Amino acid sequence: MRVLLLGGTTEAMALARALHGAGIDCLYSLAGRTGTPALPPVPCRIGGFGGIDGLAAALRDHAISHVVDATHPFAAQMSRNAMAACVAARVPLVAFERPAWVPLPGDRWTRVPGIGAAVAALPRDPTAVFLAIGRQELVPFAQTGHRWLLRLVDPDPVPGLPGATAVIARGPFTLEGDLALLRDHAIRIIVAKNAGGTGARAKLDAARELGLPVILIDRPAYPAGRSVVATVAEVLDWLAHPARLGV
Ligand code: NAP
Repeated sequence: MRVLLLGGTTEAMALARALHGAGIDCLYSLAGRTGTPALPPVPCRIGGFGGIDGLAAALRDHAISHVVDATHPFAAQMSRNAMAACVAARVPLVAFERPAWVPLPGDRWTRVPGIGAAVAALPRDPTAVFLAIGRQELVPFAQTGHRWLLRLVDPDPVPGLPGATAVIARGPFTLEGDLALLRDHAIRIIVAKNAGGTGARAKLDAARELGLPVILIDRPAYPAGRSVVATVAEVLDWLAHPARLGV
């Protein structure tokens, strides 16, 4: 057995450690988006594969028997490529994905299907926005005249949103820390992706505590037939019995 683990998340790191601990041969793959990525104790490769064909070729070249897609729930291109490449190469695939967040009493969420809808859902009058969506999709927000607070992993210049204030920090984040962040920057509204998990949840809990509205971007849709599990134990079980979930 040789597992290709598509990583880039806290969950992927935990799974890599578990596979290492179980003596399962694993190749960990990162896109290379961050300058100093956290790396697990298994062989790693960094950089894109070159689309579906490139990934299918890599599956053959590395004699991969199973693929686990543990990328971020919003890394849709990679996940779609993995589905297509695994069908082409006849390699079983499972997605390891944390459940989406669901609202609690007191949450003031407006759920939107994508970045464009998030821009459209912002108030017309200029206000202070915590734009918690990473650095790759900031350009559509540039014309809306608000005061932006970003939280980023790398201190590189922010593309597409000049004048934004960037806090450089790596999760997991705490309720106390995010309450202080929102208060210190006098934030009035938050834009976030429904990433799920605990590491980035604190900003939503802080928003509820402060009574702030949140524009929450829904996860991307995938073609039918995607197999998804939510725990390391389920991945290990799937590796032992991949036919149970199919490709
Ligand atoms: P994406 O839009 O789905 O992927 C774009 C391209 O990047 C893919 O087609 C692939 O290039 C390459 N790529 C992505 N993940 C890869 C991986 N694990 N190993 C090798 N190549 C990979 O993904 P993204 O939104 O740019 O995210 C990139 C990475 O950042 C992922 O590992 C993801 O888990 C992590 N991340 C994303 C977000 C987010 O909000 N999107 C947040 C936190 C972390 P080729 O087509 O050349 O193979």
